[in-house]
Amino acid sequence: MEPRETEIGARTLLVGLFGHPVRHSLSPRMHNTAFRLQGLDLVYLAFDVLPGDLARALDALRALGMRGANLTVPHKEAVLPLLDRVDALAARVGAVNTVVNEQGVLAGYNTDVAGFSEALRVVLPQGARDRRCLVIGAGGAARAVLAALVAEDAAEVSVYNRHPERAAALCAVAGEWGATHCRPVAREAVNTIAREADLIVNATPVGLDGPVKDLPIPVDTLHSGHVVVDLVYGQGTTSLVEAANTRGAVAIDGKAMLVMQAALAYQLWTGVQPPIDAMRASAERGER
Ligand code: NAP
Repeated sequence: MEPRETEIGARTLLVGLFGHPVRHSLSPRMHNTAFRLQGLDLVYLAFDVLPGDLARALDALRALGMRGANLTVPHKEAVLPLLDRVDALAARVGAVNTVVNEQGVLAGYNTDVAGFSEALRVVLPQGARDRRCLVIGAGGAARAVLAALVAEDAAEVSVYNRHPERAAALCAVAGEWGATHCRPVAREAVNTIAREADLIVNATPVGLDGPVKDLPIPVDTLHSGHVVVDLVYGQGTTSLVEAANTRGAVAIDGKAMLVMQAALAYQLWTGVQPPIDAMRASAERGER
């Protein structure tokens, strides 16, 4: 499909990214590539919004008649009480990454959960059902991953975190969702759990460009029976993906999830099937 020229004009609608920081984000290029390709009269811009300014940014979204926004660190949880409506999944996860302005009513959605599940299928076509999973990290991204794994009926989900109390708290939240098979893992047990797992998800920022010795689990726990999903992404591959591939595991970095959560948000704003291949190509090129 040839891109249709869409000049920015008086009817152009604005979509934004609200986060801090945002200058590293691949989202503006991904979305603007897709808008142009599909001839949609929208434009996507990144706004560096400090935590204390989030409420004013949402007022601006309303006042300017913006079509919506993505939320990223540190706003995904803080935005919930500022919205008019939060869909059931986002409320359950306690995080919103996509806001849609529905004629003045601000509705919050979470596309990270489905974005993770879609990305997982790139390396595990049947999904996590009946798989033993280890999630490393207990922040916002780990929460979305946990929600996806619980929804997919994983056989067990172990959560390991540098600060163990946060892993315990996350598993307690999963318990509130009705999950009975999520458990926090102590440092002494994590290597054994890692070796026995079918799926390992890194939901920490570790491994973007640092040495593999700094990864949250030792590289020698990885083997050819593993599927590894690293939520980290950057230019080229990540340390964990590289180490996993070297040891025969199937592994992907965070670009697949980034693209899928973006595609789902795009669909919410436009009602149009997103041009996923073009969005993926933009993310792979690492354009900012
Ligand atoms: P977050 O809420 O700040 O949580 C960060 C987590 O990483 C915490 O569990 C933290 O442990 C752990 N951590 C941080 N530094 C660490 C270190 N040096 N060693 C071990 N653990 C460390 O962040 P988030 O939103 O969950 O994001 C986590 C990562 O996922 C980021 O790299 C983000 O870019 C990525 N992400 C990717 C996508 C995607 O679409 N691919 C989507 C969302 C997030 P403590 O609790 O002990 O501090």
